[in-house]
Amino acid sequence: MSRRDEHAEISEQLVLFVAGALDRETQSRIAEHTATCPSCAAELDQWQLISGGLRRLPTPQPSPSLVARTRAMVAAQIAERREGRQNRTVLIFLALFSWLVTIVGWPVFRLLTGGLLSLLDIRFHQMWLLFAIFSALTCLAGGTAAVLLSARRQQERRFAL
Ligand SMILES: [Zn+2]
Repeated sequence: MSRRDEHAEISEQLVLFVAGALDRETQSRIAEHTATCPSCAAELDQWQLISGGLRRLPTPQPSPSLVARTRAMVAAQIAERREGRQNRTVLIFLALFSWLVTIVGWPVFRLLTGGLLSLLDIRFHQMWLLFAIFSALTCLAGGTAAVLLSARRQQERRFAL
């Protein structure tokens, strides 16, 4: 390889040399060349200056307002999720409570209107049992639908963020 060709090739690789991105053999070849070639030595100086300057630049930091906003968003999301869980618990409790009131309320109503004897009626017991099962199923279906709806609403809100 002629001196000219080598000079052209090494001149192209000086940036990589400064970055330390070349294999050891090439690094030492370039070091040898720049020791005897004033033009490449000067260029190498330039690149080393630039590289040193880049290294001294401060690492970009996220702005405090962005950090605060992100933190607030995360906190809001956590609160929302907790609130959703609480809502679900309250809903299940309300469904159970209304079912209990209905189930207990009927014999009480019957007792008040028909007297103690009417409670012993076997047909009333059967009907009450059927009613209990039926209303439980209704409450369960309603509760499931409500839970599913609130879960989906929460998911939609998460996507909207
Ligand atoms: Zn050179």
